[in-house]
Amino acid sequence: MKEDYYDILGISKNASSSEIKKAYRKKAIEFHPDKNPNDKIAEANFKKAAEAYEILGNQDKRNQYDQYGHAAFEGAQGFGQGGMNMDDIFSQFGDIFGSAFGGGFGGGGQRRSKGSDMRIRVKLTLEEIATGVEKKIKVPRKVKAQGVEYGTCSSCNGKGQVMKITNTILGRMQTAATCSSCGGSGKVLLNRPSGSDAQGMIRKEETVSIKIPPGVEEGMQLKVSGKGNDAASSGVPGDLLVLIEEIPNNVFIREGNHLHYDLYISISEAVLGISKDLILLDGKARIKLEPGIQSGKTLRLRSKGLPSVNGYANGDLLVHVNVWTPKTLSKEQRQFFEKMQSDSNFIPHPEKSDKSFFEKVKDMFA
Ligand SMILES: [Zn+2]
Repeated sequence: MKEDYYDILGISKNASSSEIKKAYRKKAIEFHPDKNPNDKIAEANFKKAAEAYEILGNQDKRNQYDQYGHAAFEGAQGFGQGGMNMDDIFSQFGDIFGSAFGGGFGGGGQRRSKGSDMRIRVKLTLEEIATGVEKKIKVPRKVKAQGVEYGTCSSCNGKGQVMKITNTILGRMQTAATCSSCGGSGKVLLNRPSGSDAQGMIRKEETVSIKIPPGVEEGMQLKVSGKGNDAASSGVPGDLLVLIEEIPNNVFIREGNHLHYDLYISISEAVLGISKDLILLDGKARIKLEPGIQSGKTLRLRSKGLPSVNGYANGDLLVHVNVWTPKTLSKEQRQFFEKMQSDSNFIPHPEKSDKSFFEKVKDMFA
């Protein structure tokens, strides 16, 4: 159950927009990562408050939320990982803190350092795609090595930027450039533990749980915020980008969200008609074939295809009927077909149904 946005910000349902802004500002300061380094709970609260403000701070979105609750934004927030990532949140800060807060607080135009993104591939069966699945995957994330120590960069005094003076025709101009000694992080490595890289990082396998919604497709990329590589010294982790690969199914062929299925029936089933249970990816469906159905006929079972990843209507199941012609026959069966062949009055036709003929066919091929 998702927490109520008003409760997250600690305000009443009829709070004014300035009260909402004020409440968010308070929470953002309280749980800001700069004030709570490596505190996962504070980070989660920080993200929750940002998500709540993203909705309640916008009158249109707030109206939708008041009317439909969290259901109004299902799917839109992505991936059940608490919605927004840190970059989104810091870009939102300009609006809420304005210039009064300056650059001193993460936002305000200064780029925060972020760990690099990681990419993995996940192979899914069509059954898993039909129902959605949670995969636990081992990811070799870059994390800070034990015992690593960082100090303030002396070239930029920890600002990450250095001022450059250039002479132009308009006079001397001052511009900011990324510090080359620390690469903009403001920190330098004091102690590098053995086995760690130039930033004092090592790879550590971590099991990440990835919720895959139903209906995903080959080539789709899902983002799990904050599960990429950690940032060196300080900053937020990068994201984990999950590329979807589909394992082909040998019964159902996918076409968008529709599924195609080749059904084989015997001659007698085609002649007499039959009801059959089809085993689907996530259940069963009963299908009724009328007597005299022709090979090549396609039956459409509405909504029995794959779910849509956006939550729109399901695709359909298209059942292609094929009449199976027997290749080996007993003597009796062969005589029967020879009689059919030679006696033009005896050729079965659904329109000229002859009861005794149908009963005979049924016994022979049952
Ligand atoms: Zn520096």
